[in-house]
Amino acid sequence: MIQAAYIHLPFCVHKCDFCDFAAFAGVQHVEREYCEILLEEIKQRLKQTQAQIKLDSIFYGGGTPSVVAPENMRFIHQGLLDLVECSNDAEISMESTPHSITKEKCEFWRELGINRISIGIESLSDDELRAIGRDHTVAQAYEGIEIACQADFPVVSLDFMYCLPTQTLDSWQKTLDQFVELASTMKQIRHVSAYGLELVGNSPLYSRFPKDSVAYPDDETFNAMRDSLIETLALAGFEQYEVSNFARPGYACRHNMTYWRNAEYLAFGVGAHRYVDGVRSSNLKSLTRYIREPLSVDLFEPIDQATRQKEAIMLGFRMLEGINLTEFENEYGVDLFVQFEKPIKRMLEQGMLKLENGHLSIPQKQLALSNSVIAEFM
Ligand code: SF4
Repeated sequence: MIQAAYIHLPFCVHKCDFCDFAAFAGVQHVEREYCEILLEEIKQRLKQTQAQIKLDSIFYGGGTPSVVAPENMRFIHQGLLDLVECSNDAEISMESTPHSITKEKCEFWRELGINRISIGIESLSDDELRAIGRDHTVAQAYEGIEIACQADFPVVSLDFMYCLPTQTLDSWQKTLDQFVELASTMKQIRHVSAYGLELVGNSPLYSRFPKDSVAYPDDETFNAMRDSLIETLALAGFEQYEVSNFARPGYACRHNMTYWRNAEYLAFGVGAHRYVDGVRSSNLKSLTRYIREPLSVDLFEPIDQATRQKEAIMLGFRMLEGINLTEFENEYGVDLFVQFEKPIKRMLEQGMLKLENGHLSIPQKQLALSNSVIAEFM
């Protein structure tokens, strides 16, 4: 049964210097055309799938879905709900930038059924926001968060980035402290994602901060930043539940848990990646080409049983809860403990793994080293 759908809305007001997503500025004039093609893609792909579908989560990502005109958001969301069954308490998330949030839009999104807004804050330092080429300020970030919280979204999630050019351990701690203060007064802030900056080839960021620039924090500082993130958020009541994700108890992102539990999911729109009927596939990443051929794919990879098992291990160890050994055996027909007895026992002794209540997991302090653990299973 497929329970999750991702919808990609690629429109941005400004292209950030570090961004490698299928996100485009200056193409708002094709927004309606894109939405019509997107809905047609949804119809065609749903016709093709063998899977049973009842959605428990819908995720509008991008790009910046919050800049899409309300009539187009309604067109897509209503169109999707007319085509697939969706549970009454489904998690319906939307990504946004802080300065695209207004009271009127929030009222519209809430009325449409969106119950989780994820705001790209990235940093609470104006210098760092400028350094990475964001087009909003800290003051605008505060304003956007406040409007979203007043609109009473059940979950407001904030996205941060660390290991940014010009960022220091002190300035990152300052961002974290400011976040803690905000979260103590705004209870709707129930989720945080925080990723270390990943530099992509040909990033415009390199023109100001070349790859080997001393403006980037070194490895030791990166580790210290990650540690301070985990400690500070834990003290503020946000539990780490995945390498880069934190939530107040009970507010983990259901949609992303679908990915980490290696379940199948639908995805539509330019560049979108899906896992349906045992195949991982992705749409064309060029907007012009997607508009011409929305059903063409860049990637088409049938996943065999051995690969499924490996993916389940890789993804499962990203989560604090780790791998449920009984569920793993039921799903993949393999007793993981028996198949990897030697390395598992050794890593348990070394404290690189732990076994609790039938879950095999990486202890929180070791989670950053998950790659070396996972390598033992490949
Ligand atoms: S707003 Fe988000 S999606 Fe758009 S360019 Fe910036 S980082 Fe990329």
